[in-house]
Amino acid sequence: MGCYRIAEIGGDGIGPEVVAEAVRVLEAVQSSELRFSFERAEVGAALYERTGEDLPRETVDLCRSVDAILFGAAGLPDVRHADGTELVPQVTLRMLLDLYAGMRPIKLYPGVPTPLKITDGRAIDYVIFRENTEGLYVGVEHYIGVGSDRKAAAESVMIVTRFGAERIVRYAFDYARRHARRKVTLVHKANILKLTQGLILEAGREIAKQFPEIAFEDRIIDATAMALVLDPSRFDVIVTENMFGDILSDEMAGLVGGLGFAPAANVGSDVAIFEAVHGSAPDIAGQGVANPTALMLAACLMLDHQGEREAARRVRAAVEGVWREGHARTRDAGGQASTAELTDAVIAKLRA
Ligand code: NAD
Repeated sequence: MGCYRIAEIGGDGIGPEVVAEAVRVLEAVQSSELRFSFERAEVGAALYERTGEDLPRETVDLCRSVDAILFGAAGLPDVRHADGTELVPQVTLRMLLDLYAGMRPIKLYPGVPTPLKITDGRAIDYVIFRENTEGLYVGVEHYIGVGSDRKAAAESVMIVTRFGAERIVRYAFDYARRHARRKVTLVHKANILKLTQGLILEAGREIAKQFPEIAFEDRIIDATAMALVLDPSRFDVIVTENMFGDILSDEMAGLVGGLGFAPAANVGSDVAIFEAVHGSAPDIAGQGVANPTALMLAACLMLDHQGEREAARRVRAAVEGVWREGHARTRDAGGQASTAELTDAVIAKLRA
């Protein structure tokens, strides 16, 4: 029997609203074989205003001790550190827990609005893996002064380690094998950044040899950005470095319904966070209109990760069914349904 301890971290804005809906769905999928216990913890801007801390130690400790973490969103545009910088406890948490694999499935569900004109019935259903801990996002930057101008130039350092490149590429191939995916595309810019990007490409070519049943190709980032719009069905699993993955995955989220439909997982060797791609959406917080679909799909990623594939399949089928029928659309998808009404429809489908 699977019995899992889950940290429930709502955070700011719509975060707690959508996490609560994912928890309701997980409770509805429980059975004598599958149980969850949820433990709440706090992060975020509202907490910072109250206590001066946005990521308390108890939250980090809880995250280290549980089987998985369901996360809403953290940060509010108007709440900043004394030096004016934004609060990003979610990024700190990823670093502290060494969650090196950022995973974003990109799937277009029937009935979900897309700006793409899909006329030939081919599916959009692939997964992007983004390296989460290296690249330009290590934040090693400085100004270069010339004469009296102390900010004449600025320099950022892109760091790629062989260790980091190999573990993200291996994770993507392992995932492809576990989920019967057929092809891994490594996206890079090694034609220009010959050393940093070259190291990732080398890792891809080496590791691909250990997965002979999975096709491997490499593609340049700029050409990939165009191909993802013109011919998204040609992709299956994409693996790429930190910044390219950040940009590509948001581009694609926009093509499969927008932020309300985009789940994500950040996975490390010991623990993983399951969340939506969207932020705290302060413009709609407290109104009961947020689309909880992304968090429900993130809960499916959590179930998959725990090996509870049947429960994940059931929740996905219920979510997909509700969107296909179209009677419980939230405002972002052109409907009138509230957050809770959409969840009620998903739970009713699960129980049908
Ligand atoms: P956002 O994703 O919060 O919102 C962008 C737009 O999308 C808004 O109009 C919002 O109403 C809409 N939207 C987002 N999620 C939605 C949902 N589930 N249903 C319906 N509409 C939805 O991005 P933002 O406004 O740039 O950021 C707000 C705050 O969130 C900022 O402080 C930012 O730093 C933070 N943020 C946090 C995370 C995270 O915790 N992972 C991620 C991104 C942004």
